[in-house]
Amino acid sequence: MIRPILKFGEAPLHVRAVEVGELTPEIQKLIDDMIETMYAAPGIGLAAPQIGVSLRIFVIDLSLGHKPTDLMVFINPEFIELEGMQLEEEGCLSVPGFNATVARPMRAVVRGLDRTGTLRTVAGTDLLARAFQHEMDHLDGKLFLDRVRGIKRDLIVKKIRKMARAGKW
Ligand SMILES: [Zn+2]
Repeated sequence: MIRPILKFGEAPLHVRAVEVGELTPEIQKLIDDMIETMYAAPGIGLAAPQIGVSLRIFVIDLSLGHKPTDLMVFINPEFIELEGMQLEEEGCLSVPGFNATVARPMRAVVRGLDRTGTLRTVAGTDLLARAFQHEMDHLDGKLFLDRVRGIKRDLIVKKIRKMARAGKW
């Protein structure tokens, strides 16, 4: 089932999500919905808080569904390595219409459970490393905008608030 994606300003996007306990049928259904919602958007990643569920789960597929082996599901993920630096333009399904340059480590190694409950460790560089960090930020109640400083961030937030007042956000 495709679920509505929350936007900047809605509470679940701005609080820390909690660890998943057991991998119940409800959690499996949630993961199915997350994958379906990500593909429908379309997006290369989605975190549970973006559909209003404050749990530590994210899904990523850089191929947008074209290569089944690219689909990754991480439950209770953590970084075991972060290194280097990259500076790239970034956007988010929860902040539609806005992009900004964000500095992030170039390489990230993430460890977490997959949907079968198996502990997996995956290393990524470039876009994959960026996607890992972007989605992990969602689990900590952070959006890419929170990593943009100064005037650029203020400008985007101001525009969003104006759109919200006009009922267009
Ligand atoms: Zn996002």
